Amino acid sequence: MRYLKLLLIISFYLTGVNLISCSDDKDFFLENVINEQQDEDEGDADEDSGDQDETDDNGDDSEDDQDTDDPDPDPDPDPDPDPDDDDEPDSGEPPVVDESITVATWKNFADAAISHTWDDSYDQQIEIAVPLFDAFNMNTTLYMLPNKIDNWQPYKDAYRNGHEIASHTMSHPSFEGLDRARVESELKNSQAIISQNMEYSECLTLAYPFCDTENHNLTEEYYIAARGCQGRVEKATPDNFMEIASFLCGEGTANSTTSRLNSIAQSAQEANGWAVYLFHMIGGTGGFNITPNTLEQHLQFLDNNRERYWVDSFLNVVKYIKERDNMTVYLVRENASEIVVSCTDNLDDSIYNFPVTLKKEIPTNWNTASVLQGSNAAESYIVEESGKKYIIFNAVPDQGEVTIAP
Ligand SMILES: [Zn+2]
Repeated sequence: MRYLKLLLIISFYLTGVNLISCSDDKDFFLENVINEQQDEDEGDADEDSGDQDETDDNGDDSEDDQDTDDPDPDPDPDPDPDPDDDDEPDSGEPPVVDESITVATWKNFADAAISHTWDDSYDQQIEIAVPLFDAFNMNTTLYMLPNKIDNWQPYKDAYRNGHEIASHTMSHPSFEGLDRARVESELKNSQAIISQNMEYSECLTLAYPFCDTENHNLTEEYYIAARGCQGRVEKATPDNFMEIASFLCGEGTANSTTSRLNSIAQSAQEANGWAVYLFHMIGGTGGFNITPNTLEQHLQFLDNNRERYWVDSFLNVVKYIKERDNMTVYLVRENASEIVVSCTDNLDDSIYNFPVTLKKEIPTNWNTASVLQGSNAAESYIVEESGKKYIIFNAVPDQGEVTIAP
């Protein structure tokens, strides 16, 4: 490892002239070292993604599985790495669901969730990457260093198109060993400045600089989830929303080709899990650059397989998981003229407002069906399976009863 790190430091000084700022350079080589470490631990990662198969459609992993199969590299005597886990609304009871209604693990019953994230606020992200995602009608996540941004308008436009604009802290420090007050100011100030410039309140997730998670349990006071870089597929219900794993991608990593990017999605599909990609530069030099062509072909692959892959922002996937795991769904009434379904949760409705996919059997003589939640039409479609008919529809918890009528 030391030899590798030395090589990376040398290569950083040789190529550093192309890079934008000192803090970013440090980011690149340190994250690269972390990635190499993860490659060495690949056996563990495979073992971990394997147990996602045991996750059922409702996403209610058994607690036992999570604790015994967790390949925690630290010989920590406490099986629960996060003492505040009990505060997480998702970590306890399985959802109460009416037996006649199925809640999809992922939106529209896709096999996997896929999120692409971008660190360090390179101009090329907004100029090249975001338009590519727009072309495929997919959402992505930009983790911002707010001090690097002169013009916020393109980011506001990206947000209006469905993309997530969230925090990569103010000054990009390593949280390792950083004192509590400094960590708190990095978390709090970046959120405040992004929210102020974006004129919104959805700066709700964080990407840790250098992938160093913090040990003060402060992140969860400001954010609903945070991204690390552990190089593995996440379970349908992650063990720890404050350390969501991601795959470092681009030049100088194992994940720089379309086929490799696609194979990450395929492993998420096999595991019924969530793959998070970490990119930096696109269409430039340095910074784990990815070529626009590589990304475009990867997005084309995901687009060609939309029934398998649900591609969305990091935030939307987090919302979906927490809602799915906390929803109470029941049949209010069912007769020849209508089916009425209630879906509620105990989460903050100002944040958790994302539609969750449900499936309900309907009479075989219903050839069409309208689905209304409150007075709003809900996205829906009918499928036939083994001679039975079902309606698949998207409903937002706590937004009123859902009425399905022929
Ligand atoms: Zn960074």
